[in-house]
Parts: sequence; structure tokens; C-alpha cells
Amino acid sequence: MHVTLFGAANEVTGSCYLLRSESARILVDCGMFQGSERLELQNRIPAQLGAKTVNAVLLTHGHLDHCGRLPLLTKAGFSGPIFATEGTAAIAKLILSDAAKIEEEDTARENRQRKKDHLPLIKPVFRLRDVEQVCRQFQIINYNHWFDVTLGVKAQFVEAGHILGSSSILLDVSENETSKRLVFSGDLGRFDAPIMCDPLPPERADIVFLESTYGDRNHPPLAKTLEEFESQLKAAIARKGKILIPTFAVGRTQQILYQIAAMIRRGAIAALPIYLDSPMAIAATELYTKHIVFMDEEAQNLQLTGQLETDLTTLKTCQTAEESKALNNIEGPCIILAGAGMCNAGRILHHLLRNLNSPETLVVIVGYQAKGSIGRDLIEGATQVKILGETVRVRATVRGIGGFSAHADQKDLLRWLRPCTTTPPKVVLTHGESHAIDQLAYAIKKEFDISCLKPKQGETLQF
Ligand SMILES: [Zn+2]
Repeated sequence: MHVTLFGAANEVTGSCYLLRSESARILVDCGMFQGSERLELQNRIPAQLGAKTVNAVLLTHGHLDHCGRLPLLTKAGFSGPIFATEGTAAIAKLILSDAAKIEEEDTARENRQRKKDHLPLIKPVFRLRDVEQVCRQFQIINYNHWFDVTLGVKAQFVEAGHILGSSSILLDVSENETSKRLVFSGDLGRFDAPIMCDPLPPERADIVFLESTYGDRNHPPLAKTLEEFESQLKAAIARKGKILIPTFAVGRTQQILYQIAAMIRRGAIAALPIYLDSPMAIAATELYTKHIVFMDEEAQNLQLTGQLETDLTTLKTCQTAEESKALNNIEGPCIILAGAGMCNAGRILHHLLRNLNSPETLVVIVGYQAKGSIGRDLIEGATQVKILGETVRVRATVRGIGGFSAHADQKDLLRWLRPCTTTPPKVVLTHGESHAIDQLAYAIKKEFDISCLKPKQGETLQF
């Protein structure tokens, strides 16, 4: 059998694996390339992938870099089932619909300009109706049970602990009267993290495709992260500042709210007004609440007993632009969570524009900030930044707090791999930048004496 990598090779976006056996053509993930123009140009379905001939897609989770090319795949003629857990289908629908909306708006804006310049008009890469088609092809799969994907291929989805619905996928592929077990890790979460259940490591595998996003580092312990977060919040509350938290809608927002709730419960901070100013984060939080059964025991208890709601009685959601604008007139202390997570778009920009110049303000950066983003400039100590065309002086306190990552670090990745190394499998490292992959390969060689494969984009591996 053969596996071709159509993305996430020596980089972290565009996950897409084509498995070809005697009797099957299966895709695991069909994600979007994100981050730079060079990468985004690859957001198409290559002819050699043969969209019309693919039997089925197995989706590990709903982040755009894992599901973002599905609308293109169906447009290119794929009409088979897309297997996913209930949580993944719900998150993918939310994220793809948002992406389609942005794409349609951006295209309309660009076409207005093109009309003026007498240039040919362009079409959106995909539209909302293409997302609806993807959703019609979803087939919901429960965790931990084997099912037939197509002739000669069985699959099982197991918990990956990354975001709601996230899974690692086990595939038993029969060919020439032998069967091989392939394991695709998907994005893995951290062990012992709040809210999410722990990832479930495979006990046996012939070939493992392992993500390597943070293969070169270990995250600071969560306890230290929380201590720092709490002391920053306390200081800002004492000076009656507005606390701005640029947030990623799925996963991070829920983690942050969960931790703020815990601080209020313990009496570490008073119950201050909290505003969730992002329609996407509001929708994602509702999905987490609806699918609480997939969360860890503590999160389930807090929700089922109503404790979480009691802790967060001061939480208000801002759906409309008017509700968001109204926050300009409120006094601190208060917490505002708004997108986008890297401060490169969205409502957070308006809050930064209004409040960065104030020494009372606290900006807490809780996620990865790409080079060139306003978030990255802030974290690197910029004394002024340009927001929506205006230059603003930074007099606020800006703190980057690591340790809230939803990704396994090197220690977690080794722990996940360990159980299946009794009979060493082939290990293929993907979904990481070269440095992270090299460091993880070194650690795996040292720990398990396995030499990892490090395929390039477009490469085909034979097993
Ligand atoms: Zn992910």
C-alpha cells in the first residue's frame, strides 16, 4: 500500500494523506494551508489526488488546517462519506461556514475594486453552499468501535484530547491476505489538561503517522502558567484596568473561561464583568456545553451541577457589532475576550485601538503569535503599533502567557507513542516544522531506538 502526503509535511498546515491499497483510496483529513501567501496558493485539490476516485474521507478534527479543503474536494467530484465524530462534524461545520463567509465577503470587496480597475472578476474559493454539501456527506462515528470504511479497510476513532471531537484514527488495511495497522495521531492534546480527556495511545501499530507541532519543546507546567495568569489579573483588577484577551474561538476560549471560573470559585479574584465578544467563540462555547459528555469528569461535574454557570454569572456574550461597540463605554475592571487570536483581524482590534494607550490596561496573549501579526509585535515589546490604519502608543501592560497550548509537547508525544513501541512500528513524522521534526526524531531514536521517516510534501511512502 502507498500513502501520499498532500500537506503537513515539514510544516504544520494542510494535513491531507491519501492511502491507496489494492481495493481502496482513502483520505485522512483534507486541510487548508494557512499562514503565508506561498502556502495558501496550494489550497487546491491536486489532479493526482483523483477526487472522484476517493472512496471515503476520515476526519481527525474540525480545525481548518485539517478540514478546510473538504469543500474543494466535493466541488472536484468527491461524493463519498466523510467519517467524523459528532463533535468534529459540529466544529467543522462552524469553522468551514465562518471561512466561507469570510471568503465570500473578501471576494466581493476585491471585485468592487476590480470592477473599478476594469479587471476580470474573481470567484470565491468556496461558498457557504459548498460547506452545506460537505455537511451532507458527514457520517457520524462513535469513539472506540471498529467500522467498515470500504472494501478491505476498517477504522476506529479514539480520543486525541486536542479539541472537542478530536480523534486519532486506527486503520486496519488488508492487502494480499495480510493486514497492516496504520495509526494517524491527528493533533494530540496534552495529558492531564483541564476540560479535555487524555489522548488514548495506540497499543499496537505497524505504521504511525505522528504530529510534531511541538516536537522540539516542553511546555511550562500548567500550574506555573495559572499562577502567572492569576497574578496579572489581580494587578489589573487592582488598577481598575480593562483586561483584553485576544482569543482563538475553539478550545482556547473555553480553557480561559474555565480557569477564570476556577479563580472566582476559589475567591482568588472577585466576580468581575466578563464579556465574550466573538460570535464564533460564543457558538464554539455552546458546542462544548452541548457535548459535555466528551469532556473530562471534572468539567462534566462542574457543568452538570450548575457550578460553572454560578461561577460565571457575570459572563455576558456580545453577538452584534452594537453590543461590541457598547463595551467602549464601560469602565474597568472587566475582562474582554475577543477574536482574532493573533490580533490580525476581528473585534479585538477595536478594543486594542481604544485601550492600548492606557497604562491601566492589561493585554494577555494566550496563544501562538505568527511573525508579522500585531500580537507578535505586542509580545515582542513594540512601543507603538498600527491598528486599522492608526498608530497607537502602547502604554498598556502586555503579557504573553504560554502553557495554555492545546497541543502535546515532546514529553506528551513520547508518552503517547510509548505503548506501541514494544514491537517497534515505522514512525512517520508530519505536521511540524523541520526543526521540531528533527528534534522529535532525535528523541524517539534515543528513547525507543526507532529511526523516523521525515517525508516531504507530495512524497509517496510505500509499506
Ligand atoms: Zn488542530
